[in-house]
This record gives sequence, structure tokens and C-alpha cells, in this order.
Amino acid sequence: MDTLVDTLPFSDRHAVSRLHVIVVGAGIAGLVLGLGLCKFGHEVTILEQVREIAETGAGIQIAPNASRILNRFDILEEVIKYANVIERNSIRRYANDDELGSVPIMPAVGKEYGAPLFVIHRGDLQRVLLDAAKLRGCRILTSHRVTRIDESFSAHVQVNDSEWLEGDLVIAADGIKSAIRSQISAADNYESRAIPTGDAAYRCLIPRETMTQDQQAMELLQHNVAQKWIGPDGHIMAYPVKSNQAYNVVFLHLAEDETSTQEGKETPWTTTGDKKEMMSFYKSWSPLIQKLLSYVPEGEIKKWTLNSHPPLPSWVKGRIGLIGDACHPMLPYVAQGAANAIEDAGVIVAALTCTDNVEVALQVYELVRKDRAEKVQASAVRNRENLHLQDGPQQEKRDEAIRSANRGEGQNPDLLADKEWQNFMWGVDVMRDTIEQWDELVVKAKEEDNSRAANAGTYLGWQS
Ligand SMILES: Cc1cc2nc3c(=O)[nH]c(=O)nc-3n(C[C@H](O)[C@H](O)[C@H](O)COP(=O)(O)OP(=O)(O)OC[C@H]3O[C@@H](n4cnc5c(N)ncnc54)[C@H](O)[C@@H]3O)c2cc1C
Repeated sequence: MDTLVDTLPFSDRHAVSRLHVIVVGAGIAGLVLGLGLCKFGHEVTILEQVREIAETGAGIQIAPNASRILNRFDILEEVIKYANVIERNSIRRYANDDELGSVPIMPAVGKEYGAPLFVIHRGDLQRVLLDAAKLRGCRILTSHRVTRIDESFSAHVQVNDSEWLEGDLVIAADGIKSAIRSQISAADNYESRAIPTGDAAYRCLIPRETMTQDQQAMELLQHNVAQKWIGPDGHIMAYPVKSNQAYNVVFLHLAEDETSTQEGKETPWTTTGDKKEMMSFYKSWSPLIQKLLSYVPEGEIKKWTLNSHPPLPSWVKGRIGLIGDACHPMLPYVAQGAANAIEDAGVIVAALTCTDNVEVALQVYELVRKDRAEKVQASAVRNRENLHLQDGPQQEKRDEAIRSANRGEGQNPDLLADKEWQNFMWGVDVMRDTIEQWDELVVKAKEEDNSRAANAGTYLGWQS
């Protein structure tokens, strides 16, 4: 990777002492954490509720703030084998495909931030991480559903309502439906529950074979350009994956009546989507979009209800910490959910090279990550407002602002394409910050912990 520059002497670091870490959940967050911890000689047990870890999801983008961490965990080279390196982002008007903006991505972004930006099928990413985690010695126990943690937050977890397991610390990477989050929040007198964002996504993979007769569609498939069409109440994100053998198209849209937060399934809120319903929402979009919609294989449309929850009072208690979607689920509108989960893993691993005091490590983790993740989470909501405008004066103003930003003037209303916001999302190196600012962070984390203890009980539940 010629754009990869890492000046943090991370390979010289080592764990202060070997700890047994129990990780709950083998999604992107849990697996990356497991890998990083194993690299430093920790003993890792990952408990996963499902019997078989299946390759679910569709394309996701991994930005430099995360890819630099994958590199430090010695997995980037393997991951990149299954990735498409994106050359530019194109922002288009929904009705006629007019290009409002074109933002260079690779190699410019890689050079600027010292790490690449790429897209990959989530299933490929998870498989590579899983294989590597096993190879590194992570113990991965499937059909192990953590039903609760002990009330003193002392790193005991109960599995399948029966046996208890004990570690030196427990990290809950158990996703948006996290049961452990509820227990931590309850200790803060706070009721935590996921709520509908009002939007849903159809995630579709169009196989190359279905598009070969269509030159315009094949152009899209063959070029490593991420296309974004923006329109009233929705947008579409599309790019090639799987060595340009499939076109990943995510249709994001308002779905007020259909959102649901019913609990009880093993995966996030997914159902099989209805093609007719999907085509009806996008019926006024361009002829090219109509063609893409027609190529989507019937019966293979996954509909994801996009849920989230407001910022939590705290992410850690005693020897237990939350990471990933368990504590900062976000709309995918700045493509940072998994990337931020990877940042969480990076900070925990970095902190444990600075101390073996588990409580201190977790407090610093929360200090470094919580505010930052919540800013990114909020920016995704802001981006929805910017991207999903109805046609009219506001939309015209927005489109003009995108055009101006493209000429280097002013802010880009699409935050994913805005230089300043990119610097915030992609340019920050949370592992470096943790290590270089360790002493001050410890002092600050202790002060915050004391002030939280003094304010305990102020969270009286969140009203929707
Ligand atoms: C449409 C869409 C597009 C997206 N695009 C992007 C993108 O471009 N870039 C990006 O960075 N992010 C993107 N994301 C977000 C990203 O996919 C998630 O943020 C990320 O996958 C969350 O990972 P996680 O490991 O925290 O949670 P999950 O992937 O939900 O993993 C949680 C795991 O924990 C297990 N589990 C749950 N409860 C228990 C229990 N009690 N005991 C044991 N195991 C348990 C689950 O079975 C699961 O395996 C997108 C999301 C969506 C919906």
C-alpha cells in the first residue's frame, strides 16, 4: 500500500500485563478488538449468540481513521485483497443524474491521512477478521448468548441463563440491541432503548451477469467510483464490490410507518424487502436508477430498519465497557458506524499498553471516544437533513453549495464530502492520542468519573 504511512511506533509497544478479556459479540467491533488484544498477548474469549457466524450485510466503506487501526493490527493487507479502492465520490441529482460534485478519494485521501479508504462487502470483512482472530488464538464460542452481567460490574457474565464466566474485563460488542447496555444504563437510572430514526435502507447486490447487456450500468460497475444520488426524502449510495463482480446499491429512504424496534431477533432489524414497494418509492428518480432497480434480484432485497438511540450517560461501569453499535449506533449517512467501532477497539488496545488497571483503561477509553463518536453520530442525522431535501429553494441553495465546494469554496452540505468534516472523521488518530496524551487523560478521566459519581441519579429516563 503505497499510501500507508504510520509514524506511531506501535509495534514497539506491549501489554502492561496479560489479561483475560471477555468480548461479547463477534461482529466487526468484537472481532477487531479480539485481534488487537491477541496481538499484544492478551487472552481473549469471544462469546457469540448465533450458532454459525454468517456473512450478512452488504457493502461498507472503511475510512482512514479505521484502516490505520486495521494496519496496526496486521490485518489491513489481507482485508484489502477483498476490497475496492475508491477513486472518487460523485454526487448526483436524483431526477437527471446531473453531477453536482465530484470529490477525489484515492490516492489523494490515502496520502493526506496516511491510510487508505476502501469499500468491501461486510461479509468479506467479517470472514477475514474471523479467520485471523482464530489464527491468532482468540477463543470464539458460538451459541453463547450472554444473558446478563453481575450487578457489581466485576467482569462476570452469565451465558445462556446458566453458567457464569469470569474475565479481567468484559467488553460488550453486542450491537444495537445490546442487553449489557441496558444493564449499564439502568445503573445510571436511565432507560436505554433503540428508537426508529424514521428511515430504512434496502441493501442490494446486483450481480455482474444481470448487467452485461447495459453499457451504462457496466460503466458504473467497472469504475471504482462511489455514486450518490440525492433526492426528496432519500438518497442512494452505490459502488462496485467483490472485484467489480457485483454492484452494491443501498437505497436509503423515509419509512415512517414501517419502522420497528421490536426486539428478539439475532440480527439487526432486517426483513426481506419488497421490490414493488422499493420501485414505487423511487419512481420519479432518473431512468438510470429505474434500470438499476430493475436489475435487483427479486427476493434478495434486504430491508434494514435504521434505529438508533440518544447518547448514553456512560459507556463503562467498573470492569465492563461497551463498544460499537452497542453504544453509538448511527445512521450510515457519513459511513462511520463500523469505522467508529474500530476506533473503539483501537483505543482499548492502546490503553492496555499504558496500564493494566482495567478501570482506568476503560475510563480513558470513554473519555477519548464518547464525545467524538457522538459528534459523528449527530453529523449523520444532520447529513440526512441536508441530503433529503424536497425540491425547492432550499434544495437549489444546497445544490449550489455542493457545486461551490467542488470549486474549493465554502462548506459542502454533504458532510461525507466536506473537507473540514473529513479532517475530523478521517484525520484523527485515536490510538496515537491515547498513547501520547496518556498522563493528562488519566487525570481528566478521574475528574470526570468523580463528577459523574456526584451527579449520579440525574438521568431519569429518556422520553421519546
Ligand atoms: C445500510 C447500512 C450501511 C452501512 N454502511 C456503513 C459504512 O459504509 N461504513 C461504516 O463504517 N459503517 C456502516 N454501517 C454501520 C456498520 O455496519 C455497523 O456500525 C457495524 O457493523 C456495527 O458493528 P458491531 O460489531 O458494533 O455490531 P453488530 O455487527 O451488530 O455485531 C453484534 C454481534 O453481537 C452478537 N450479540 C448480540 N447480543 C449478544 C449476546 N447477548 N450474547 C452474545 N452475542 C451477542 C450479534 O449476534 C452480533 O454478531 C452501515 C450500516 C447500515 C445498516
